Amino acid sequence: MTAAYIALGSNLQDPLTQLRSAVSALDKLPGSRVERTSSIYRSTPVGPVTQPDYLNAVLLLTTVLSPLRLLDALQQIEQEQGRVRGVRWGPRTLDLDILLYNDQHIDSPRLAIPHPALQQRNFVLYPLFEISDANLVLPDGAVLDTLVAACPRDDLEKTSLRFNKN
Ligand code: ATP
Ligand code: CA
Ligand code: CA
Repeated sequence: MTAAYIALGSNLQDPLTQLRSAVSALDKLPGSRVERTSSIYRSTPVGPVTQPDYLNAVLLLTTVLSPLRLLDALQQIEQEQGRVRGVRWGPRTLDLDILLYNDQHIDSPRLAIPHPALQQRNFVLYPLFEISDANLVLPDGAVLDTLVAACPRDDLEKTSLRFNKN
């Protein structure tokens, strides 16, 4: 059994409903259970594309799925929730990224774990910090609370929106 941290993001077609549907779909994956969900955050988009604000969250999934089978399952859920692949970093109904998979380090064409942008993204680090151990050590030896302290919160907003299951 693996502890996998998954990042969720949405900025199209009722993002709150998108995130809630994703939690429910993840909880139904074979041999998998959503153990913990973070608060829901609102973030302004990064990158070159003008687009609506995002809702973001992180959850802890325990699973028997291998990393690549988990990625397949996440991409299938994205498709089922109407994800259309357009410009890179453009708006989307649902984005599901694997942040961490136990303490594994993976660098293959389809899958990089830890997620390469983890350390730079406040909308990933703050919710991850909320549901994991502050002393969590990443596979490269970095400690989570040090990463959070080095990452400005800027305009990241913790909302009062809730998942149905918390
Ligand atoms: P970013 O990865 O910078 O957050 P993105 O989420 O917008 O960008 P996508 O278009 O959703 O990027 O995914 C592009 C590809 O990234 C996927 O097809 C997948 O194979 C690959 N990928 C590599 N590592 C991961 C990971 N840890 N989690 C999810 N996808 C990954
Ligand atoms: Ca992403
Ligand atoms: Ca993605």
